[in-house]
Amino acid sequence: MIDIHCHLLPAVDDGPETVEQAVEMAKRAASEGVTAIVVTPHAFHPQFETDELNIQNAVAKLQDVLRHEGIALDLYAGQEIRVFGDLVEALSLAGSRYVLVEFPSDSVPAYAEQLFFGLQTEGYTPVIAHPERNKEFALNPKRLMDFVSSGALSQITTGSLTGEFGQNVQDLAFTFLRNGLSHLIASDAHSTGRRTFYWDDAKDAVTKELGQDKWNTYVSNAEAILKDEFVFIDPPILPIKNWRGKWKK
Ligand code: FE
Repeated sequence: MIDIHCHLLPAVDDGPETVEQAVEMAKRAASEGVTAIVVTPHAFHPQFETDELNIQNAVAKLQDVLRHEGIALDLYAGQEIRVFGDLVEALSLAGSRYVLVEFPSDSVPAYAEQLFFGLQTEGYTPVIAHPERNKEFALNPKRLMDFVSSGALSQITTGSLTGEFGQNVQDLAFTFLRNGLSHLIASDAHSTGRRTFYWDDAKDAVTKELGQDKWNTYVSNAEAILKDEFVFIDPPILPIKNWRGKWKK
């Protein structure tokens, strides 16, 4: 499996603090069947000072350590880009056309459509990180539907599917996948603690809820990102709630 969203670089953001912790994370990922990770440190995030970081160098250095430790895991460089008003110089995922973008957790800024339009005009495809954890998408899934209808993709976090962020986030994650509003699954792992990979558990949950074919699609979509190929998309459907206030299946 390919993990397209993971905070694996030591001592750069809220990921591992030491090289040893990064190595432990890499071992965990490999043990759950991950063969490649696109390393995505936070960029332009108000809490993390990563402007001066040379990601390519840092990734190459960590790759050397993993080789030395005998861990079979290929690393690629990327960024998780916190959006703000301007178009920014940033790294795409593994040099592909796909750009991982993150909104603030409680809102989707009004300028986002304009920003995405600009990105897409330049040939990039925005991938919205963990929409299931965004309060505005939860209240108004039409907003996500509009982005996806305009050609954006979105990525669900493994821990959301296993209930790590609570029942509401879990329900919304499955709803977005079921309705064609999310197309990719990634760990967004930060550690070997609570925010870890959950690949094995997510696979079980998705296979049980949506079937093996769907799981295979998400796995091959992540491979497509790495190869800079097209990602498989279903026509998006607007989620609605039943009379109990639960998302309709
Ligand atoms: Fe992240």
